[in-house]
Amino acid sequence: MSLARRPFNFAPGPALLPEAVLRRAAEEMLDWQGSGMSVMEMSHRGREFTSIAEKAERDLRALLAVPPQFRILFMQGGGLAENAIVPLNLSRAGAVDVVVTGAWSQKSAKEARRYADVRVVASNEADGHTSLPPPASWQPRPDAQYLHLCSNETIHGVEFQTLPDLKALGSDAPLVIDCSSHILSRPIDWPKVGLAFAGAQKNIGPAGLTVVIVREDLLGRALPACPSAFDYQLVAENRSMFNTPPTYAIYIAGLVFEWIAAEGGVAALEARNVEKSALLYDALDGSGGFYVNRVAKDARSRMNVPFFLRDESLNEAFLAAAKERGLLQLKGHKSVGGMRASIYNAMPLEGVQALVDHLQDFARRHG
Ligand SMILES: *Cc1c(COP(=O)(O)O)cnc(C)c1O
Repeated sequence: MSLARRPFNFAPGPALLPEAVLRRAAEEMLDWQGSGMSVMEMSHRGREFTSIAEKAERDLRALLAVPPQFRILFMQGGGLAENAIVPLNLSRAGAVDVVVTGAWSQKSAKEARRYADVRVVASNEADGHTSLPPPASWQPRPDAQYLHLCSNETIHGVEFQTLPDLKALGSDAPLVIDCSSHILSRPIDWPKVGLAFAGAQKNIGPAGLTVVIVREDLLGRALPACPSAFDYQLVAENRSMFNTPPTYAIYIAGLVFEWIAAEGGVAALEARNVEKSALLYDALDGSGGFYVNRVAKDARSRMNVPFFLRDESLNEAFLAAAKERGLLQLKGHKSVGGMRASIYNAMPLEGVQALVDHLQDFARRHG
């Protein structure tokens, strides 16, 4: 199939990948670099795949400036499994604090309750998950084993613009962040973080890979009930080869890391993400109320932009006209309704411009 241009895909995840990555993977599908094998057919312990995995880990460490005292783990299970794996590894079946800012942190709190004494220390539920509770109002417990937050709420479109400094709040607890939907879109402030996890299918690569970046002193605390394959200490000791890792997903992730480096790294992508999201929010805010985004300005996500049509009876027509222009998967999450544009790293500025053109044309025709 040859298309003049692929459609712009605004899916929340699994999400679009850079076209250059897909083309390279297609070229290497049958024979990876003269090995006579597809990456999917290689031993995870063989020389070829070891070189792929080690390079991916090195490149990720460089892109995110991960300090040496953090270990990078390539695991399976996705973000939802981490909601259990984190408490199994870090909670000591004791106190866990959670900040709720949307659907994903709410799920994390619920799952952690199976393993730990969970308290929600701050929540934006009262305003429908449209703001960020100011850290000065949080009251972390002195005996909390860690504090969990979701640094970008994929469904509600709420993003922490800076991470809280728990030490400044009088807490020594490590901060755990679920950064599944904005990892690599901006730098991570490592001195404030104990553990960061991300399912790959939003901003890294295909589903099946979960990246965990954990400070070394947090290893070796798993509860006896923790499955061995999910024990961070065992996974770290075995350089993510305790069990068979998701090899093909790691390979694609590695290609994405190379693409990010070639684009100028995380700082360059961050600048582009600022520009893309400003373009879209300005179009929504400037539509005279035809479109509405309800998230407080200082809490708006650069990656996931939920919005509503004032006249919701036009929703189907809006989506059909978008599809006709090659703008795919704009329907909002079923729990929120409306529309959502996910504009991850791989979405070019031209894609956001095409969406803005559609927003304006549609409003002109139906306003
Ligand atoms: C998508 C997502 C998850 C869930 O990931 P799965 O791989 O489906 O388990 C968790 N957290 C956030 C913030 C997400 O966006």
